Amino acid sequence: MIKPIRKLINWARIKSPWIIHFNTGACNACDIEIVAALTPVYDLERFGALQKGTPRHADVLLCSGPVTRNLKDRLNRIYDQMPEPKFVVAVGTCACSGGVFDGCYNMLSGIDEMIPVDAYIPGCPASPDAIIDGVTKLLKAHEAKEEKALKEKSK
Ligand code: SF4
Repeated sequence: MIKPIRKLINWARIKSPWIIHFNTGACNACDIEIVAALTPVYDLERFGALQKGTPRHADVLLCSGPVTRNLKDRLNRIYDQMPEPKFVVAVGTCACSGGVFDGCYNMLSGIDEMIPVDAYIPGCPASPDAIIDGVTKLLKAHEAKEEKALKEKSK
């Protein structure tokens, strides 16, 4: 891809990440915190983030909860439907490691057992400010990586 176009696409992606949220088996408390992060009190939208209803339009997948056996296939399908580059954020201790549900007969552990995870936000539940911090830091890290790759390509 031509350098200025790639730069422009990266800039747009960082300035306006489109987000999809999926509960893989959370108790709902982490979901309430995600909703709080997205709605006006904490307002993740001030960073340009926009919640989407389909994985085909999303850059960032926010997952809450450990992965239950019956949601494993759906999680994989959602991840596969997202366009590259895609980012996965595990929200809450359960999503990071299985948390209090680890070892239960109907659970398969944390998100990273199924799909690659780019950022982990622990907490039971994870707080809205930690979620915003995690998403913005993840995008900054991606921006730095892309800039480095562009610089190396132009050498
Ligand atoms: S981390 Fe805590 S609040 Fe979040 S899904 Fe697990 S038990 Fe619920």
